[in-house]
Amino acid sequence: MSQPRILLVEDEAPIRRFLAIALGAGGFEVIEAERGRLGLERAATEAPDAVLLDLGLPDMDGKAVIAGIREWSQVPILVLSVRDGEAEKIAALDAGADDYVTKPFATGELLARLRAALRKRPAGTAERAELAFGALEINLATRVVRVSGIEAKLTRKEFDVLALLARHAGRLVSHRQLLTTVWGPAHREDTHYLRIAIGHIREKLGDDAANPRFILTEPGVGYRLLDN
Ligand code: CA
Repeated sequence: MSQPRILLVEDEAPIRRFLAIALGAGGFEVIEAERGRLGLERAATEAPDAVLLDLGLPDMDGKAVIAGIREWSQVPILVLSVRDGEAEKIAALDAGADDYVTKPFATGELLARLRAALRKRPAGTAERAELAFGALEINLATRVVRVSGIEAKLTRKEFDVLALLARHAGRLVSHRQLLTTVWGPAHREDTHYLRIAIGHIREKLGDDAANPRFILTEPGVGYRLLDN
């Protein structure tokens, strides 16, 4: 059996080195990232079995790293934190972390928690950040969309709409679900937001509502991304 691969996101070099050695001795293969953004990239490109994440990073908040990974992946995330305040831990768990270890920690405890997180990992979830539907390619990690290899520049909301449709490809996604997820519960009735966004997405993807290649309108109900 191959060694589980752990993505270690930690900016402090001495701690990173110490952890890499401890994880290696514990039977794990280690992928290192010293910044949050690099961690997000490596999570997408290296497909680790678990992520060990320091919350205090220089370039972005650890919680934003968790949220970024959770856009497309259910990989177990263990948070390393010097902050032992309850609120910080709860915020990390709410953002999608599975567990946390407070620094300074015992290596044995850390390895045990990591093994437990790996056991809880949903089986058979081959997760991919890169999705393709015919000529349409969507990278959920880098938020890049291409049609026939050419990048389509979507706004943040337009991307979020398309990503939600892509995660449910082939299935109907209701107006309410799209509005609640992308704009928030207060806008669940604002179908004109959605109509305008879908219009822009179609234009940028070169799609035609009357003869759709990608997005199908289900009149009065919602939209469906065609799963080609
Ligand atoms: Ca740090």
